[in-house]
Amino acid sequence: MSRVAVVTGAGSGMGVAISQHFAARGDRVALLDVNGDAVEEVTQRLRDGGAEAISCQVDVSDRRAVFAAIETVRTELGAVEIIVTSAGIEAFVPFLEISPESWEHMMAVNLTGTFNCLQAVVPDMLAGGWGRIVTISSSSAQSGTKNMSHYVASKGGVIALTKALAVEYAPRGITVNTIPPGFIETPMVHRPIEAGLLPSMEELIARAPVGRAGTPDDIAAACAFLCSEEAGYITGQLIGVNGGWYL
Ligand code: NAP
Repeated sequence: MSRVAVVTGAGSGMGVAISQHFAARGDRVALLDVNGDAVEEVTQRLRDGGAEAISCQVDVSDRRAVFAAIETVRTELGAVEIIVTSAGIEAFVPFLEISPESWEHMMAVNLTGTFNCLQAVVPDMLAGGWGRIVTISSSSAQSGTKNMSHYVASKGGVIALTKALAVEYAPRGITVNTIPPGFIETPMVHRPIEAGLLPSMEELIARAPVGRAGTPDDIAAACAFLCSEEAGYITGQLIGVNGGWYL
């Protein structure tokens, strides 16, 4: 069955792979990202492959823009049945150096951005009596990570929001799960490596229990399953995709 799926952060990293997986199985996909050129390029590639896909440039922390984008999705593709919230930012700053402004910005994108996107699409799922929601959190919120307390706190909020919505909407046919990734090779990992904020890729791989970096496809495959008909009895769960970094 062809479903309407929204993917945020679809212009880069795991959001690209998640969108590709949905398109490959025949879903109609709306790709949202703050980087309009990047997300349009990904969308065009999906269309070239025969998919029905649209792109929307949107900052997920801008509530009005999110609701406008979802209205466009409804008009062009239909009511939203699936959403994966992959848009996110990170930063490496010691706790005492985090300014109130950067704390607010982190929360605005990672946590409030997730809130905005979910509030915009849940009415469609309630009306249809079926929905699949996957939030992308972080294994850092499970393990703790130094110099990222604002990021970790925002992702801890995403995990808690996921569980709360899972309980609230379980009787309405909507499942809500979170994937807390760990060490997935994307620009978000390459940037801090290049800036010397993380060890080299080789060192990270040497520390990884499975002996390799995760790929965006590793995340996308888990998302595709959680957003399938067969996953209807799985809700409120943290499905770690981290190569054994956090057990
Ligand atoms: P990525 O390659 O940087 O992709 C994130 C995408 O989100 C980028 O296209 C980014 O655009 C976009 N974005 C940033 N702020 C946005 C906003 N306000 N509104 C809409 N889009 C926005 O990173 P990734 O590794 O795929 O990360 C995806 C998710 O996984 C994130 O939530 C991240 O926190 C989480 N995560 C990643 C890892 C990992 O190992 N990679 C581990 C744990 C959790 P710009 O590039 O223009 O900023």
